[in-house]
Amino acid sequence: MPGVVTRFAPTPSGPLHVGHLLAALQARRLADVHGGACLLRIEDIDITRSRRHEWVDLMYEDLAWLGLHFDGEVMVQSNRFDVYAAALARLKAMGLLYPCFCTRAEIKAQIAEMGRAPHATLGYLYPGTCKHLSADEAEARIARGDAHAWRLDMERVQDLIGTPLWCDMHKGVQRCVPTVYGDVILARKEMPASYHLAVVIDDAEQGVTHVTRGEDLFDATNIHRALQAVLALPVPTYCHHGLLKDNAGKRLAKRDGARSLASLRAAGYSAQDVRDSLQQALLNGGIWKV
Ligand code: GLU
Repeated sequence: MPGVVTRFAPTPSGPLHVGHLLAALQARRLADVHGGACLLRIEDIDITRSRRHEWVDLMYEDLAWLGLHFDGEVMVQSNRFDVYAAALARLKAMGLLYPCFCTRAEIKAQIAEMGRAPHATLGYLYPGTCKHLSADEAEARIARGDAHAWRLDMERVQDLIGTPLWCDMHKGVQRCVPTVYGDVILARKEMPASYHLAVVIDDAEQGVTHVTRGEDLFDATNIHRALQAVLALPVPTYCHHGLLKDNAGKRLAKRDGARSLASLRAAGYSAQDVRDSLQQALLNGGIWKV
């Protein structure tokens, strides 16, 4: 397979942990198998500015310690807000976005009233309340300075693109039915671009042909596929890999500092020890023992 391009795209909102190593190795190895390139992208749009440098510096230290290298230039999302803003403007001009003024508490109350269950991985889906505001009212509230987010109108998206296909290397061809995933937020005041928007734009710009990432993002890929269709972006192949678990079978969480690479390093483990433990975990159904 010539021209395979993968990427490792960590969100350094804390120290990297063993799950990040798994994700990085998946991307690196898939590229290596095909003689391709593996790029690095720092997904730092949602990270408190004050700690961004600290976590990014630690990330580079961890990657160097592990002996992981990446090809080409590093892409840093916090340098690219103007690119995301241009995409948002395009989506607005296409009539696919609407402003939403609901607070989290209001959304929770609306959902409770409707008796809806949460989506398995995407949480509570927005019930669409602000979609029904008149254009005049929405404009007046924006002019008044009311806090708002911009949501993607999935009904309109579906009218425009139908139900496009995408392919996961493990699970085969999938059909994306946009309305199933709710009207996701693409921007809000304190976050000018959401993960969903930035990830599709950046995968396209970096020429990523194969997206490797944890299976927790499988459902979100449908949202990404819908955005690729409306923005006429190329569609990579996806490879959603299993996640590491603790002894009780629970997914290792980021906040679980004991499995951070920095803490393993401080405890005297070598990079090879950590790689060996990861290999063991993969042979053992993803259960991380160290
Ligand atoms: N930035 C995400 C994370 O660190 C990964 C996103 C992706 O691979 O699409 O969990």
